[in-house]
Amino acid sequence: QKALVWFRRDLRHFDHAALYHALRDCASVFCVFVFDRDILDALPSREDRRVGFIHAALVELDAALRAAGGGLVVRHGRAVDEVPRLAEELGADAVYVNRDYEPQAIARDAAVAKALASAGRALHDFKDQVIFEQDEILTKGGTPYSVFTPYRRAWQAALTPDRLQSYPVGDHLAALCPPPAGAALPTLDAIGFSAGNLSELPMPTGMSGGEALFADFRDRIDRYRALRDFPARKGVSYLSAHLRFGTVSIRQLASYASFQGGQGAETWLSELIWREFYQMVLWHRPEVVDHCYRPVYDALQWDDWAEGFAAWCAGQTGYPLVDAAMRQLNQSGYMHNRLRMIAASFLTKDLGIDWRAGERYFAQQLIDYDLAANNGGWQWAASTGCDAQPWFRIFNPVTQSQKFDPAGAFIRRYVPELAAVPDRDIHAPWTLPPLTQSALGIRIGETYPAPIVDHAEARARTLARFRAVTPAD
Ligand code: FAD
Repeated sequence: QKALVWFRRDLRHFDHAALYHALRDCASVFCVFVFDRDILDALPSREDRRVGFIHAALVELDAALRAAGGGLVVRHGRAVDEVPRLAEELGADAVYVNRDYEPQAIARDAAVAKALASAGRALHDFKDQVIFEQDEILTKGGTPYSVFTPYRRAWQAALTPDRLQSYPVGDHLAALCPPPAGAALPTLDAIGFSAGNLSELPMPTGMSGGEALFADFRDRIDRYRALRDFPARKGVSYLSAHLRFGTVSIRQLASYASFQGGQGAETWLSELIWREFYQMVLWHRPEVVDHCYRPVYDALQWDDWAEGFAAWCAGQTGYPLVDAAMRQLNQSGYMHNRLRMIAASFLTKDLGIDWRAGERYFAQQLIDYDLAANNGGWQWAASTGCDAQPWFRIFNPVTQSQKFDPAGAFIRRYVPELAAVPDRDIHAPWTLPPLTQSALGIRIGETYPAPIVDHAEARARTLARFRAVTPAD
């Protein structure tokens, strides 16, 4: 038997379900990655840090496979055409993949399965990127959970050690076949992309990058719970892009977190469970991609405000922590979780702009962009989602700033024009009298924008917007 393992968001050669099953079941195993034109052609820019991140991960994966006697065949084209064609060329009996829960990926895999079947080949798919999938965690009534905490409890109750066991890929490497001549990894340039400023970011790539970040985080995991909400502190793991592209193994991370114990590790495990919760929300309810999880909120009348949206994107709203957050995103392709909540809340509740616009902007900028987590996060902040923030609880961007960046250290990093403003005033610099502003070398409205909206007025508009469509209890 000959197999072709098709890598997608699982760019590693260890603890890999599809690779393990192919190696165990088949005498000859080839490996392929497709730079999928259906995805790449839809990207808004040819400078994309994610394509760079993927490319760097492939360089490492290819080297690791080669060292074990195999290597990657890399194609640039439509995956729905390339995968069946390569299976034909290699005479593979079956294609092995890890399952993906996004609607477009499900449709793509169905099309590939159909094309393969018409030539007498099979597509074998495996659970890999989550611990529990599909209908494995349901309520007692057999329905998907719509609230996180009971989902987490059921997830933890169902967790047995075998769920966390790594696939011993290394025991079966002898079946790996080297790629045919001419199949080598193209340069980024050859596929028409550049990696933007990826190489300037403190963002190690590939399996080695994922391992280095995780090693660093293991030393800090005990403090995760205490520090994770403060963007100026190094409190979180920064593993999201690695989880997105599978350069780390969820089984290894979840296993460490569950056996480590302690409040830090427990809280972090809970975040990994949020990741699965949103993936399964998307799998059960694919229409959330462009509809509110709670259909009643599809009737919300959002404001069409191009200048407001542009100011938010550029980090020029006049609210320092919101602006620092957006500038962090634009510069680095990353935004701290607390800031994602604040920035998303500001767009939807202070500017009154549809969550879908913000979600799309994040989708273009984030290196860790993940449809399920991004959609879930945006709908949470917009109060339209699954287990979302109630609509009448509206973040105040100034008090959030005072609470989570008390000394303004994060603001100063990304909004240097406010560097001289004292800690006390940096969260709302427009309240400084003009004379004090001059003494500090700033002028609100000139050197830094005046607030684009008045929060109290915006809050009242949002409450009215939601009240208009919320059914009375
Ligand atoms: P850590 O705090 O170290 O958490 C570990 C991992 O748990 C993360 O890497 C991530 O995989 C997962 N995780 C943590 N929080 C969440 C969450 N709320 N939902 C789902 N998974 C979570 N995360 C993405 O991976 N991609 C996105 O596109 C994305 N968009 C978001 C948009 C909004 C509006 C919000 C509020 C959140 C979004 N998140 C997204 C979730 C979260 O902000 C990031 O996962 C986190 O900031 C990544 O940093 P980290 O790896 O250091 O996280």
